[in-house]
Amino acid sequence: MTTIAFIGLGIMGGPMAAHLVAAGHDVVGHNLSRPALDRLVAAGGRAATSTVDAVREAEVVITMVPDSPDVEALALEIHPNVKPGTLHIDCSTIRPDVARRVADAGAEHGVRVVDAPVSGGEAGAVEATLSIMVGGEAADVEAARPYLDVVGGTVVHVGPAGAGQTVKAANQLIVAGNIQLVAEALVFLEAHGVDTDAATTVLAGGLAGSAVLDRKTAGMRAREFAPGFRVDLHHKDLGIVTAAARETGVAIPLGAHVAGLVASLRAQGHGSLDHSALLLQVESLSGRKNTP
Ligand code: NAD
Repeated sequence: MTTIAFIGLGIMGGPMAAHLVAAGHDVVGHNLSRPALDRLVAAGGRAATSTVDAVREAEVVITMVPDSPDVEALALEIHPNVKPGTLHIDCSTIRPDVARRVADAGAEHGVRVVDAPVSGGEAGAVEATLSIMVGGEAADVEAARPYLDVVGGTVVHVGPAGAGQTVKAANQLIVAGNIQLVAEALVFLEAHGVDTDAATTVLAGGLAGSAVLDRKTAGMRAREFAPGFRVDLHHKDLGIVTAAARETGVAIPLGAHVAGLVASLRAQGHGSLDHSALLLQVESLSGRKNTP
């Protein structure tokens, strides 16, 4: 049994922390809002009143918060207040350069930091089947693996500090483009009066098949856009992708276009909907119902 401090118990962190409790670990959580802490306690974990309280006795600290500034601010609180040798696993999706900076800052306090962003969405977190791309020193990644295996189905060491975030950026590029094209296909099929249930079943069996097609079309067809993964967060991730592509001179013409579409959806007030709400914008651009 390991004492694990888990900071950020939202859509993803909540179920991940509960799986670690179920695996027999002593999980001490902290979150900005109270209901998530109550859910952790109901699952058998403990609630801390501050990040510093949560991490003081921990052997492992896991952070799962929205954005780069959140992780940097937390690292400033965490690293000076843990025992030397503590493992800090950051599962948030943040900029690769910030992940490297956080790893360097941790090293100054004897804290071993790995970046371990996840893919698989809320369902992946609930089912403990997340795909986890891990950056860091090989020994630290191996030390993190037993905990990541509890919440993930595919855990792969992809390179040094920051590499996990670079792979996650590529993941977000693929997912955004895939959702936009699935949305366009659904509106196209509906406009032609085709049964979209039958259509997506056969599409899923061919080269057009994807996890997006499997997991997102039912909600899109029903126009149910409760998150899931918020448009706000995907907008953040596409900012990471476009900046990192620009840094290396890589052209991502389609990705840049989809980044513009996600930004537009958000600017129209839909930042808190699931990213599958890209469908609303396709309908709007097509002069059809459900104008966003
Ligand atoms: P969320 O907004 O549901 O949860 C974030 C939680 O962090 C909130 O409960 C908030 O109270 C807490 N928090 C923020 N700052 C904090 C602080 N300083 N101290 C304590 N708690 C703090 O977000 P989410 O959907 O769970 O996403 C978390 C991260 O995982 C993001 O980086 C996101 O991009 C990534 N991600 C999300 C999904 C998804 O499908 N939702 C999938 C893969 C990756």
